[in-house]
Parts: sequence; C-alpha cells; structure tokens
Amino acid sequence: PVALSLEGVSKQYAETTAVDDVNLRVREGEFFTLVGPSGCGKTTTLRLIAGFEAPTMGTVRFGGNDVTGVSPEDRDIGVVFQNYALFPHMTVGENVAYGLNFADPPGGISSDQRVADLLELVDLEGMESRDPDQLSGGQQQRVAIARALAPGPDILLLDEPMSALDAQLRERLRVQVKHIQRELGITTVYVTHDQEEALAISDRVAVMRDGAPEQVAPPQTIYRQP
Ligand code: ADP
Ligand code: ADP
Repeated sequence: PVALSLEGVSKQYAETTAVDDVNLRVREGEFFTLVGPSGCGKTTTLRLIAGFEAPTMGTVRFGGNDVTGVSPEDRDIGVVFQNYALFPHMTVGENVAYGLNFADPPGGISSDQRVADLLELVDLEGMESRDPDQLSGGQQQRVAIARALAPGPDILLLDEPMSALDAQLRERLRVQVKHIQRELGITTVYVTHDQEEALAISDRVAVMRDGAPEQVAPPQTIYRQP
C-alpha cells in the first residue's frame, strides 16, 4: 500500500523551479531517501510533503487522501530538521512531552510513560531530567526524533538530521535511526546530500537532480558515482 504520493508536484519561487513536476510514491513502512547535491530540491520536496509549503501545481496524498491544502499540524507527521532546535530551557523529558502538544498519548498510557517509552526507543532511557546542553549532538538529535514521534505519527520526515555531527557520531546515529525506523515500521522520508549514507540506510532511494528524481530504486541497484 502507498503511504504517500506526489502527483505532478511543482514548486516555483520567482525565477527558480525548486521542484519540477515530481511524481513519487512512498510505500507503507518504507525508508525512502531523497538524495542529491545542494539545490536539487530535496528540502523543498520534504517541506511540500510536510505542508510547510504549498505546491504551485500538483497534488500531495497521504494514503490516497488529498492533503494538498491541509496544514502541517493536521497531517499525521513527525518532522526533524538538521538543526535540532531542542528547547534549551526545558529538560529532555519536557522536550519530548512537548511533542504531544497537550494531546493524550496513543495507547491510553500516561504522558510520563509515553516519554519514558520514547526515550528507551531512542536509547536514552532514564534521561528525562537532563538538560539538552548536557547531551552530545547525536543524543540531542535522538531527543528531537523522540519528540517528533511522541504523538504517534504515521509518517516521519527527516531533513539532514546528521549533518551537524562528526563522521563517527553520524555513523552511530545512522544505525540508531535505522533501528528506530525498523522497530516502529514507520514510513520514513529522509533527506541527505550524502550518497553513501543514502545507500546504507534506505529501502529505496530517489536520486534528485534539477528539481526531480532522475532515478528511483533500491540502494543495491543505484549506480555509485565516483
Ligand atoms: P536542496 O534541499 O536539495 O539543497 P532546496 O529544496 O533547498 O534544495 O532548494 C532548491 C532550489 O530552490 C534552490 O535553487 C534554492 O535556492 C531554491 N529555493 C528553496 N527555497 C527557496 C525559497 N524559499 N525562496 C527562493 N528560492 C528557494
Ligand atoms: P539545504 O541545502 O539543506 O536544503 P538550504 O540552506 O539550501 O538548506 O535551505 C535552508 C532553508 O532556506 C530551506 O528551508 C529553504 O526553503 C530556504 N531557502 C533556500 N534557498 C533559498 C533562497 N534562495 N531564498 C530563500 N530561502 C531559501
């Protein structure tokens, strides 16, 4: 089954066609990655899926429903950006709870229990009372992922979540993100300019160029550029 699709989606900014007539289908439970050089339209595509931008043309669907005019809050998504932007004056637990946005946690559990479960999922068990600045970049990014997952979204959107980290932390976070995605079976759309990362982490990869995918395929069949 298809979790989300873009049908003839374009985004024009003045002279720039950031996204050019994109047709994509992401399957339920799939780890789907948009990869390509800076400026090829990855972030704009993700923002169109999230609803932070409205397409100039075309339709965005979640599970067959047209969500093109639906605001980000009313889409069933969790979003993590490259600059994690945790609230520095809140503890780790408060940051994650903030993701619930005062709604009841899924599954009829308490919000404290939800936060504890999520911190366990992202390998930060018992770290509720820490301050964000006591954590490494990779740990902070995992808190941001836990916060995004708090309301139990159907779709997780990640924009270069590892770009601020050094190579070693990036490698670890890559494994952790993959583990989290597998554990939940959550449909994930991931943006990176790092081809090696894309090939390592994804079920399928869309190689973007000039605002559109030029190839969409599983990693093992993607041509590796030197
Ligand atoms: P990527 O994420 O692959 O680096 P982007 O989606 O950020 O690419 O950008 C694609 C193109 O659209 C670039 O040429 C960029 O400068 C342009 N662009 C993106 N956002 C805006 C905007 N808000 N206003 C004007 N141009 C934009
Ligand atoms: P990335 O390459 O990771 O997409 P950018 O620095 O290109 O990051 O873009 C970061 C943000 O700035 C994006 O959300 C995009 O919409 C916006 N942006 C990018 N290019 C422009 C531009 N030329 N004018 C205005 N906003 C832009």
